[in-house]
Amino acid sequence: AFNAAVAAAQPALNAFIVTTPEAALAAARKVDTARAAGQPLGKLAGVPIGMKDLFATKGVQTTAASRILEGFTPEYESTVSQNLWNAGAGMLGKLNLDQFAMGSSNETSAFGNVISPWRRPGDTAPLAPGGSSGGSSAAIAARLCPAATGTDTGGSIRQPAAFTGIAGIKPTYGRCSRWGVVAFASSLDQAGPMARSVQDCAIMLEAMAGFDPKDSTSLNLPVPAWEAGLNPSMAGKKVGIPREYRLDGMDPDVARSWDDGIAWLKDAGAEIVEISLPHTRYALPTYYIIAPAEASSNLARYDGVRYGLRDLPDGAGLQDMYAATRAAGFGPEVKRRIMIGTYVLSAGFYDAYYTQAQKVRTLIARDFELAFQHCDVILAPTAPTAAFALGEKSDDPLAMYLNDVFSVPASLAGLPAMSVPAGLDRQGLPLGLQVIGRAFDEQGVLNAGLALE
Ligand code: GLN
Repeated sequence: AFNAAVAAAQPALNAFIVTTPEAALAAARKVDTARAAGQPLGKLAGVPIGMKDLFATKGVQTTAASRILEGFTPEYESTVSQNLWNAGAGMLGKLNLDQFAMGSSNETSAFGNVISPWRRPGDTAPLAPGGSSGGSSAAIAARLCPAATGTDTGGSIRQPAAFTGIAGIKPTYGRCSRWGVVAFASSLDQAGPMARSVQDCAIMLEAMAGFDPKDSTSLNLPVPAWEAGLNPSMAGKKVGIPREYRLDGMDPDVARSWDDGIAWLKDAGAEIVEISLPHTRYALPTYYIIAPAEASSNLARYDGVRYGLRDLPDGAGLQDMYAATRAAGFGPEVKRRIMIGTYVLSAGFYDAYYTQAQKVRTLIARDFELAFQHCDVILAPTAPTAAFALGEKSDDPLAMYLNDVFSVPASLAGLPAMSVPAGLDRQGLPLGLQVIGRAFDEQGVLNAGLALE
C-alpha cells in the first residue's frame, strides 16, 4: 500500500529521487518468513521507511540531490541505514533534499524541489516543505511513509518537521554514526529520525543510534531504551525560556504558539524559568562561517575522478577537468558555500573569520552549559515563521539563512533538539515547537516533546 501511495503522489510532491518498491516488499516478506519459522521479529520488522538521499545505500544510486553525484552507486551501506535494516525496516526509496543538505526549502535540489502537501486555505501557491530534509517531511506529512531518516547540520530535521506538522529529533552530536553519510559540515552533521509522533521518533532513534568505530566522533555510549523511558509528566522538571529568542517584531502566531507550549508544559507539572543565552545573536553568523568552511573542505573530493560526474572536454588537462566537472556538477548554492568557505579559510582572513567563529562557538556552547544549571530542558520556537511559498526566498540567500535563527544554536553546541507539532497559525499552516536538552539527554527531550504532543 505504501509503494502504491509513493507512486501516486510522486508527480504532485516530487518527494523521492528514486523509489525501491522491491526493497520494501522484501522486508515485508521477511516478516512472514520469520513468523512462519517462529523467529523473533526486529523492532521495525516490515516497516517501510524513506531514506534521505544523503545516506549511502549499497547498490542504490546516492546523489545528495546533486548532479555531481548522479549515477554514483555506492559499494557500501551507511551505518545508520544498515542499523535500520538490521531492525527489520525496508526501504521505500531515496528521498529528495536540498543539494548536499544546503538549504532550508528544498529548492537547491538538482532534481526539482519537493512540494509540501500543505496549502494555505483558498490559495494554490505551492509551499516549501522545509529543508534540507524536505523529501522526508513531505513524505511523512502526506502519509507516504510512517517514518524517514533526516540529517541536521543547522536545523534540517527540525525546520522541515515544523513546516509540515510532524516530529523530528536531532540527537546529541555523535549518537548516530556519520559513516556513509555524505558529508556537509562534519563537526555539525548529525542523523536523526522524522516521524508522525514522538514515540515513533524514539523507536527509530533507538535503531539508528549506537557506537561505530568507523566514525572517529561516534559516542562510545550504550543506546538507552528511549521508548520504554517515555513519560509525559514534567513534575519536578524545570523548563527554561530563553529571553534572547523573543525577537523584536516576532511573528505573532509563533509567539502565541510558544506561549501555548509554555502553558502545556506547566499543565504537565513543569516549573517555568526564564533563562539567558547571551550569545544567541552571534549564532547565525558563526554557523554561516563554520558550516561553509567545513563544506569547502569536504566537497574538495568531488573532482571528476572519484565519484559520479566527469566532464572532460576534448584535449583538456587535469585542471580543466576539475573546473568543468565542478562547474557542471555543483548547483549555485553549493558553489556559494564553497566560495564563502574558501574565503574564510584563506591565509589572510583565517584569523578574522574562522578562528573568531570557533571562539564564539565555544561561548555559545558555554551559554547552554550555564543555562542548564537552572533548567532541565529549553523550550523555543523551531522556526521564525510557518512554511513560506516556494520561490519566496530563493533569490535572497540572506533571507533564507535567517530562517535558521532558532535552530543553529543547538547545532553549534552539539545538543539534542526536537521539533514537535504545535498547532496551526491563522492561515492554517502547521507550527513547530523546539525542545533543546543537555548533551546525552535525548530522554528528557523526548519526554518534554511527549508532554507537548
Ligand atoms: N538551512 C541550513 C543550511 O542551509 C541547515 C541545513 C542543514 O541542517 N543541513 O545550512
